[in-house]
Amino acid sequence: MAKILCVLYDDPVNGYPTSYARDAVPEIKVYEDGQRAPTPKAIDFVPGHLLGSVTGGLGLRKFLEDQGHTFVVTSDKDGPDSVFEQELPDADIVISQPFWPAYLTPARFEKAKKLKLALTAGIGSDHVDLESAIKHGVTVAEVTGSNSISVAEHAVMMILALVRNYLPAHEWVEKGGWNIADCVERSYDLEGMHVGTVAAGRIGLAVLRRLKPFQTHLHYYQRHRLPEAVEKELGLTFHPTVEDMAEVCDIITINAPLHPGTLNMFNDAMLAKMKRGAYIVNTARAEICSRDGIVRNLQNGHLAGYAGDVWFPQPAPKDHPWRTMPYQGMTPHMSGTSLSAQVRYAAGTREILESWFEKRPLREEYVIVDGGKLAGTGAKAYTV
Ligand code: NDP
Repeated sequence: MAKILCVLYDDPVNGYPTSYARDAVPEIKVYEDGQRAPTPKAIDFVPGHLLGSVTGGLGLRKFLEDQGHTFVVTSDKDGPDSVFEQELPDADIVISQPFWPAYLTPARFEKAKKLKLALTAGIGSDHVDLESAIKHGVTVAEVTGSNSISVAEHAVMMILALVRNYLPAHEWVEKGGWNIADCVERSYDLEGMHVGTVAAGRIGLAVLRRLKPFQTHLHYYQRHRLPEAVEKELGLTFHPTVEDMAEVCDIITINAPLHPGTLNMFNDAMLAKMKRGAYIVNTARAEICSRDGIVRNLQNGHLAGYAGDVWFPQPAPKDHPWRTMPYQGMTPHMSGTSLSAQVRYAAGTREILESWFEKRPLREEYVIVDGGKLAGTGAKAYTV
């Protein structure tokens, strides 16, 4: 029997919900790229209920305990005295979500002598040291596709919120004001602007598709070019380098995985190449941007705005400068964990566990590391 150690974010401050704003969420059976949504044999949760917090337990408790496995769920994940670190040495499987990541560092891999599977309930496995996973023969998997549209919607929302100056305008309403001039002195239309995505994978392409009806000029940069038909359909301009794209765009949306090829991509030199008054929306990973470079460029007016939901570390400390820098629309890491997304990644986590316990191969698109090397989606999107 296996021990499954699962790290989830805390329940809401007012306790685990007993009722919800809506009675149901739409069921998505096939994703935009044609991939089938997760198909576990069964689920033991109500779609639309909170699954990503400790009490929700990703809806896995009954399934695992009925089979005699041990299921430990905690939100206490950082530091040597944390429950996570205490429970790690005899865990066979670790599950965590990127929103509240259980960082699997090289030192933790050394302690996790029995670990065989590191499973991301969501997308993005950069909180797992992939080199160590390769070295220790640990399989890394994630629920590819499960929340791509959730993130794409959040990115589009943030682009509109920054450009139109939504959040400061809303604050005037709450303060009892009617300060039109204050609201509009930084408010523009998105129409006609040049928007570029760093990466046009599942999320990046979905962002481009959603922006097309806004009559924007669309650009993208990634290592492999999209099919010509897609470029034509969306009227895309391809850029062979990120610098090339940064120079012409009013808005950059970042949708690439974090790996050595994207780490600190938006450093001071890259930010200096961007147009004055440009915006950045980063819902990919914080370390793709220089933390202090972003703050400096907002303060000196070179950037007009920055928004995103990804931070380093997570949770972000109270004094993280992105909480208080000007012209920002940050949220905690939440875009990929809407109640709608949770249905899919909880089901996908269950599907992966069913395959694992029955010794069936995982769907190739779920695999990041396997057999001591990058594999499946991991071989396409990551480098070590
Ligand atoms: P995909 O695997 O579908 O796409 C990743 C894309 O990144 C590929 O098209 C790849 O293209 C491109 N890419 C990789 N390296 C580079 C590089 N050096 N420069 C430019 N492009 C690069 O991933 P998703 O779209 O599903 O997810 C992307 C990332 O978004 C995840 O890795 C995760 O970090 C983040 N994410 C955030 C969430 C949130 O809640 N905020 C939730 C889900 C994901 P090519 O190989 O041609 O370069």
